[in-house]
Amino acid sequence: MIYKEYGRTGKKVSAIGFGGMRFPSHYSIEESAQVVRRASQLGINYFDTAPFYCDDKSEDIMGEAFKDMPNPFYVSTKSGIGNEPDANAVRKRIDKSLKRLGVKKINFYHMWCIMNLDHYKKVIAPGGPYWGAMKAKEEGLIDHIVVSTHANGNEIAQMIKEGYFEGVTLGYNIANFPYRQEGIEAAYEEGVGVVTMNPLGGGIIPQNQEYFNFIKENENESVIQAALRFNASHEAISVTLAGMGTIQEVEHNVKAVENLKILTSEKINQIKSELKKDMNQLCTTCQYCKKCPKDIDIPKYMNLYNMNVLKGKEKVIDRYQEMIKYKDIKQGEPLPADCIACGKCEKLCTQHLNIIDRLKWLDENIINM
Ligand code: SF4
Ligand code: SF4
Repeated sequence: MIYKEYGRTGKKVSAIGFGGMRFPSHYSIEESAQVVRRASQLGINYFDTAPFYCDDKSEDIMGEAFKDMPNPFYVSTKSGIGNEPDANAVRKRIDKSLKRLGVKKINFYHMWCIMNLDHYKKVIAPGGPYWGAMKAKEEGLIDHIVVSTHANGNEIAQMIKEGYFEGVTLGYNIANFPYRQEGIEAAYEEGVGVVTMNPLGGGIIPQNQEYFNFIKENENESVIQAALRFNASHEAISVTLAGMGTIQEVEHNVKAVENLKILTSEKINQIKSELKKDMNQLCTTCQYCKKCPKDIDIPKYMNLYNMNVLKGKEKVIDRYQEMIKYKDIKQGEPLPADCIACGKCEKLCTQHLNIIDRLKWLDENIINM
C-alpha cells in the first residue's frame, strides 16, 4: 500500500480509503466487520463512515471491527448540517459517534454535504455546526475538522482559502474531474488534505466500460481499477475512497494502487481531451434529491436521462422499454409528468442538474411520445 500525506496534519493515509456506505444489507454486523478488518490487513488505514449509512449501521459495524484491528488506523465520520443543527446539536452527535465507534477520538470529523457558499456561511456562522465540532476538538475528542462538499471547484477553492478546514472530501472521478479541479488545486496549494469520494461516478463508469476503456493502462486491469488509479495517482489527492461491501471488493480495489505512479499534468490533459462529453452533466444516482413531494423516483429517471447524454435518444428508448419489461417502472407509480416544478430536488442535487427540464423531456420524448 502507498501512503500519502494528509495535508499538513502530519498523518500518513493509505492511497485507497475504506468507504463504509456499501455493506450488504443481508450481512450481519460481524460479517461486515470482517470486511473492514481485511482492508486493515491489506494496509488500508483510512476508514470513512457516517451516521445513517447502511440503515444507520455503518458506525456500529466500524466499531465492531475496530475492537479487533491491531494495525493503527484513522477514522472519519460526519455530522449532517442541514436544517436544525447548531453547535450544541453537533457536539451531542460527536458523543454518540464516539460511543458507537468505540474510540476515544475521531481523527477526521466532517461538516457533511455543503452544497454551496451560502450553506458554508451558515455552517461557520457564530453558534453554527462548525463551533460544536471546534468545542469537541478543544476537548481532545477530534483531531481535525474537515468538510465534505458538492459545491463546484471555484466555490470549494473559496471555502478552503478561508482556512476553517484541514481537509476536504469531494466527489471527483474520471467523469467529472474538470468540474472540481480548481478546488483540488487550491487545497493542494494551501496544504489542505483531499479525500475523493465517488471515484466510479455512481456506477456510470462500470456501466459504460466501453466508453472508458481508454483510461486502462493495460489489458489486465479492469476499468474500475483504472478509475481508482486515476484518482489515487493524483499528487493532490491523499485518499481515494471506495465503497466496499465484500472481501473480494477490498482485494480488487487494493490491487488498483499496486505500483502507483503519480499522474502528470500532461496525462490529465490528455484524458480531458479524450472525454467526448461533458460528464458533469450526468446523474450519479447519489439519491440526495429523494425528497419529492410527488414521490417521483428522481434518481431512476435521471439515470435514464444519462443515456441521452452518453448515447442519444434511441438508447433512452431502448432502456425505457427494458425498464417496462423488467418492471423497473411499476403500474401506478408517480411519473415524470407528475412533477409540479416545485424545485426542491434541484436545490438538493449534488450535480446541479436541471431535473425539471429533464423530466419534461422524458415525458414528452420517451414516455408519451
Ligand atoms: S421539482 Fe418535480 S421532481 Fe423535483 S421535487 Fe418538485 S415535484 Fe418532485
Ligand atoms: S439527480 Fe442529482 S441528487 Fe438526484 S441522484 Fe442524480 S445526481 Fe444525485
